[in-house]
Amino acid sequence: MDTPVVAEGLEKRYGETVALSGVTLSVERGEVFALIGPNGAGKTTLVRALTGTTEPDAGTARVLEAEPTAVDRDRLGVLPQAFSPPGRLTARELLAYYAGLYAEHRDPEDVLADVGLADAGETWYEDLSGGQQRRVCVGTTLVNDPGVLFLDEPTTGIDPAGRRTVWRLIEALAEAGTTVFLTTHDMAEAERLADRVGLLAGGDLVARGTPEDLVAEHAGSSRLEIETTAEPSAFEDLAFPVAARGEEVIVRGVSPADIGAVVDYLDARDLEYSGLSWSEPDLEDVYLALADETELERTNRTDRTGETLAHTGETA
Ligand code: ADP
Repeated sequence: MDTPVVAEGLEKRYGETVALSGVTLSVERGEVFALIGPNGAGKTTLVRALTGTTEPDAGTARVLEAEPTAVDRDRLGVLPQAFSPPGRLTARELLAYYAGLYAEHRDPEDVLADVGLADAGETWYEDLSGGQQRRVCVGTTLVNDPGVLFLDEPTTGIDPAGRRTVWRLIEALAEAGTTVFLTTHDMAEAERLADRVGLLAGGDLVARGTPEDLVAEHAGSSRLEIETTAEPSAFEDLAFPVAARGEEVIVRGVSPADIGAVVDYLDARDLEYSGLSWSEPDLEDVYLALADETELERTNRTDRTGETLAHTGETA
């Protein structure tokens, strides 16, 4: 079977702003692809280019083997970032309304249960909590049992329990063969759901891979954070790299088995500490490392341009 989502060299500009600068990617059937990146990176523009609501300046996109504007709508589910259905319909009425737009559709009652709102069916949309509203919105994308699902920040504003409901739902959908393309600012969400993650920065996909590979490649080593007012120099005899950050000393590369040795070191030198926490590197570290790097790159580029301009000014 052909790849359900394909983008090749997608470019989009708004005036001077480069929203997409040549994005190439593909998502396989039953795969969950999570797009992450800072605000303004181009995530929504990419989703819009793939779902036919914005036309790229260059490049091509194919979804279910068709141009995004010509995709069979019966097979597609799209949740835009900002989506506000009429407030004076109940959750049940809304799902029934959206189901009615398709010749073949799921039972709205089942969809209501899928998004964890079986008990809120009679509540007006405007009276639901923000998180419940977002779950109804996710539900509206599922009524036609789509083969490909685009979800732009599906869980923003949803409480932790509701988020887990949506996560389990997405996992079950992917398991059953639905292709899911989502954007998120929640690194735990990307790490849990995504088979592959793409980091977009300045309109460029600067990294992509499985969460595990990205962590191994970019996230650095484990971190032991020690809350202490002791001078960082007091730690220099430790056999691990140490960095200070405010009233915290961060020791890198400590395995769980080494934690005891670090504690012994502190005790032997009477170094007081009020807390210790150890963590494995995760996708958040990848994000921060790469966001820093690309931000730096951009600053350098601007600096260089600035220099050249100043220089030209002098000679002119
Ligand atoms: P993200 O979803 O990652 O926050 P967007 O795709 O919304 O990023 O935006 C990427 C860049 O393009 C931003 O600089 C944004 O201001 C700009 N942009 C997006 N949509 C428009 C538009 N319709 N008109 C002008 N600029 C836009």
